[in-house]
Amino acid sequence: MTHITGTLYIISAPSGAGKTSLVKALMDAQQEPQHGAQAKIRVSVSHTTRAMRPGEVDGVNYNFVDRATFLSMIEHGDFLEQAEVFGNLYGTSQSHLQQTLDEGHDLILEIDWQGARQVRAQMPQARSIFILPPTQQALRQRLTNRGQDSDEIIEARMREAVSEMSHYNEYEYVVVNDDFAGALEDLKAIFRANRLTQQHQQEQYSELFQELLA
Ligand code: 5GP
Repeated sequence: MTHITGTLYIISAPSGAGKTSLVKALMDAQQEPQHGAQAKIRVSVSHTTRAMRPGEVDGVNYNFVDRATFLSMIEHGDFLEQAEVFGNLYGTSQSHLQQTLDEGHDLILEIDWQGARQVRAQMPQARSIFILPPTQQALRQRLTNRGQDSDEIIEARMREAVSEMSHYNEYEYVVVNDDFAGALEDLKAIFRANRLTQQHQQEQYSELFQELLA
């Protein structure tokens, strides 16, 4: 029986759209027993040169490295994609990526639009999803709620968010995170529909198909 590989998903969003919480909820939801030999979804851990935030864990949220290490990784061709976002370097390491897909697991890359373009160019079969906030006002509210930042910082974040959002039309799927539960259902539906493609069903139901056509 031919074994088909997992699917690579690119998920992008402006800061404050709820991407990280949605991906976490998607991961938590799959802890529940699922039918059959469904592939598991995994999330790729990026490398970054940005400083660790309180509560973040090295190797879990990101692999935190210094700029020299990151630059030498670029030189060695270690990254599938890499980009500078708000003055910090971020990249997806090649190692484990192909292995994870070959083992049949779906893999999520939480990356920005620049990285998404690089991945699409190399892996056109990757699915891409953009998550949007319901209104600009809601986004501003979410960016304001994050801390005691000055108006200038909040305005700078809004400009960055609008710039990221201007690329939503490069993505295959768009999820509007108005109501969290609804957005999570939308996200689950994208993953689920992909597993119902004939190619995936051939793998799961090969014996049934043989029997039905005997
Ligand atoms: P944060 O520093 O807030 O975790 O992430 C800032 C931005 O960097 C987000 O838009 C996030 O999607 C993006 N990002 C995180 N990891 C990567 C990566 O490996 N590659 C690229 N291109 N962008 C990333």
